[in-house]
Amino acid sequence: MPQLIRLHPAAPAKPAEHEPCNGCGVCCAGEPCPLGVLVSRRRHGACKALVWQDERNVYRCGLIERPQRHLPLGLRWLAPLLRRAAYRYIAAGRGCDCSWTVEPRAGED
Ligand code: SF4
Ligand code: SF4
Repeated sequence: MPQLIRLHPAAPAKPAEHEPCNGCGVCCAGEPCPLGVLVSRRRHGACKALVWQDERNVYRCGLIERPQRHLPLGLRWLAPLLRRAAYRYIAAGRGCDCSWTVEPRAGED
């Protein structure tokens, strides 16, 4: 079923599945991974941990970039563990594991 997702206009186009991940953000803007479900407290829609990096024009996982932000004050010492766990769910250094086909909305490029 088609799903509408919103992405930054400067985000790179999604590569084909198994091509190198380019930080297009499609997968995480579409639905959260298991860790994203925990931090977003929902199973559908954009992951709350997804962050846009203006200086690089890419999306990144906030659990890797700033994991402490997603932990309560008393648990921030768990940030390195959370970062390591997040690496398991993203395609960093691997191929894109998202098989979705992306089409711009009518009237958009
Ligand atoms: S895994 Fe694929 S869809 Fe997800 S950010 Fe990387 S390239 Fe984009
Ligand atoms: S990889 Fe990070 S940003 Fe993407 S869905 Fe998982 S927790 Fe969210």
